[in-house]
Amino acid sequence: MADPSPLATARAQLATAIEILGYDDGMHAMLATPRREMHVAVPLRRDDGHVEIRHGYRVQHNISRGPGKGGLRYAANVDLDEVRALAMWMTWKCAVVELPYGGAKGGVALDPSRYSPGELERITRRYTSEIMPMIGPERDIMAPDVGTNEQTMAWVMDTYSVNRGYTIPAVTTGKPLSVGGSLGRATATSRGVVHMAAATLADAGVDLREVSAAVQGFGKVGSHLARFLAEAGTRVVAVSDEHGGVMAPDGLDVPAVLAHVQHTGTVVGFPGGEPIDNTALLGLDVDLLVPAAVEGVLDEETAANVKARWVVEAANGPTTTAGDRVLAERGVVVVPDILANAGGVVVSYFEWVQANEAYWWTEPEIEERLAQRMHRSYATVAQYARAEGVSLRDAALVIGVRRVAEAHRTRGLYP
Ligand code: GLU
Repeated sequence: MADPSPLATARAQLATAIEILGYDDGMHAMLATPRREMHVAVPLRRDDGHVEIRHGYRVQHNISRGPGKGGLRYAANVDLDEVRALAMWMTWKCAVVELPYGGAKGGVALDPSRYSPGELERITRRYTSEIMPMIGPERDIMAPDVGTNEQTMAWVMDTYSVNRGYTIPAVTTGKPLSVGGSLGRATATSRGVVHMAAATLADAGVDLREVSAAVQGFGKVGSHLARFLAEAGTRVVAVSDEHGGVMAPDGLDVPAVLAHVQHTGTVVGFPGGEPIDNTALLGLDVDLLVPAAVEGVLDEETAANVKARWVVEAANGPTTTAGDRVLAERGVVVVPDILANAGGVVVSYFEWVQANEAYWWTEPEIEERLAQRMHRSYATVAQYARAEGVSLRDAALVIGVRRVAEAHRTRGLYP
């Protein structure tokens, strides 16, 4: 049985792309191996005065096309291998949507729900100062990911800036507007996913208004996504978070679910629906399934129960290699993470460009440029998939991997 770890999945995906492209072992090794990695011990003084050590990581998987780019994750089970996988996916993602970036990722092994805001600020600042030599607006640019948010990015930016002696907004993206964030960034990943869902449905002559959907994950990505789908006329029949889910076959009142979450912190107990667990949600009889939480949820077993015709991956790495094979056998169209959820890093790029120019765009400009880039990237991937008879995942990987390999070849191997 295949190892369902994120790194095993990421490596297997790369191996498939290398095989299609016919690259030699040397190029395979160059593309598979993270360029730089840092493991730091992060001491934290808790509110009660005692000191504990958390483990932090930053991995620059590839920096051949530009600075490293990628989020910072706070979760209890974060380890170096997971960060390596997430960094590798960032490399292909940035290349697929033609951003002048490499791929990077960071993580700190802690469950943020168990720490006070003051503790989170202290650990963020200490982690930032530990990895200072690696990051910077021309080196490696951070953004939010699971367990972090725009406040985290403000602390990272402030810590970096104070140590350099002047304000450097472009060291992070996904910041609050008040410190150089971009309009549209907070909802960009979700908007991008909806663009990708609309594009893949359109290929089958179907409109978002005609379909039902289930969304797993109700955080920064899933909650906006459910709202945008409902606004587009999709019947959103189920949503869930880490505590459980709710479902209503006639469609949930998504704004009411959002209000419930604001009140209680979870979708669980929403009065306008029946309880459903996270695994059952994946097997619901819906048209569109959107995993928007964490890695590895669609494995050999859960994939065998998927009834949706389309899976649009809002999370990073939600499908294992075995899960992917099962979905393909069942004729499910999968829009892969590195394309489907790239809207976040696209608007991160816009934020970085705006910060570098110190000139801010309007929201319609940002939404328009995001939509254009997502649709153009989809068209390129879908056309390759059709022409070569491969899945959208393999097409996106081949396009991303090829662009990175081209940068390696053109730059040459030093010395
Ligand atoms: N964490 C997001 C991702 O996985 C955003 C990364 C970024 O904007 O740099 O794509």
